[in-house]
Amino acid sequence: MNKTICQKCNFEGDKDEFIEYKIKSDTIFLCLICNKHIPDSEKEFQKYIQEKIDSKLLDTFRKSNNSISKLTKKGMIKKFAKGKHLSKPPKGYKIENKKLAPNQEAEQVQRIFQEFLKTSISLTQLSKKNSMTTTGIKKLLKNKTYLGFVKFANQESQGNHQPIIDKQLFKQVQEKMQILGIK
Ligand SMILES: [Zn+2]
Repeated sequence: MNKTICQKCNFEGDKDEFIEYKIKSDTIFLCLICNKHIPDSEKEFQKYIQEKIDSKLLDTFRKSNNSISKLTKKGMIKKFAKGKHLSKPPKGYKIENKKLAPNQEAEQVQRIFQEFLKTSISLTQLSKKNSMTTTGIKKLLKNKTYLGFVKFANQESQGNHQPIIDKQLFKQVQEKMQILGIK
């Protein structure tokens, strides 16, 4: 059998009783009980994983949870798939009814992508021009949120918000960054 251990409470069970997260190069498994209480941000999530808990303390919850566990898992996956946005919105978006919506800076974001691709402006110039840091600009140019994706704990899924950057433009920008050796 394919056994897995929960990284938070050490509970051992079949692999399909766990939710898998990819954090950088690590794969983290959480049991359904621990997964129920995951915090909103990735930073808090890391902290949460580090604070261990004795799985015996969770036994009572596990028993009552058992019958609904499969349903819960489906619910979880749905929640991610729905693209609920959990952290601070990137430039160009605001949060409206718990969803991302383009704001008045969306056009500026589009201009940044266009200018980076079509001119030979340096990242330093581009960041100054937009009152941002170079790191900020780099992050912006790589942010797949603009394509309509959402990311949580390094898991990516299709969101339900409006993309503000065209797929082709995004792709060309990634290629140009690669050619210029921008990481
Ligand atoms: Zn657990």
